[in-house]
Amino acid sequence: MGLLKLASIWFGGCSGCHMSFLDLDEFLITLAEKAEVVFSPVVDRKDYPQGVDVCLIEGAICNEENLHLAKIIRERTKVVVSFGDCAVTGNVPAMRNPLRTASVVLDRSYLENGDLNAVIPSEPGILPQLIDQVTPVHAVIPVDFYIPGCPPPAPRIREVLEQILAHEPAHLSGRGIKFG
Ligand code: SF4
Repeated sequence: MGLLKLASIWFGGCSGCHMSFLDLDEFLITLAEKAEVVFSPVVDRKDYPQGVDVCLIEGAICNEENLHLAKIIRERTKVVVSFGDCAVTGNVPAMRNPLRTASVVLDRSYLENGDLNAVIPSEPGILPQLIDQVTPVHAVIPVDFYIPGCPPPAPRIREVLEQILAHEPAHLSGRGIKFG
């Protein structure tokens, strides 16, 4: 059995879930012996590869690029994990949804609160367009597993990764309190 091809990505999130991943501390060394990180914010690779075993998706679907990449990830990944509350429910980024359209947020941020040269940034092909309603990941692609928490505590992440590495059906139960 070769190394597990592991990917992670963040969409509309604060990177806190990835920070919690780094809190795995010495388990990262164990993980490095069993998994190859093939795509991640910590890996300098631009294109999402084929044949990924597991991808942890942090963040909600907030813009056209998130939407596009989510579909590519689903096509090329065996196990897709919604990683953290923003991915699982929309959480913080979805707080703008009651305003109904992205333009309300952009106007407020860049025009009404703009100081000098107030303008909404626009660079087609470079800056992705915000979508009007932020959604959790499972609203746009099938998700195989959910790790809740804002951010998920490192022991909870470890529990899931250990099950995946052991080729067990991943599961979480209870409140995760047993991990402290
Ligand atoms: Fe940040 Fe919490 Fe969202 Fe993770 S779930 S990206 S920690 S706001």
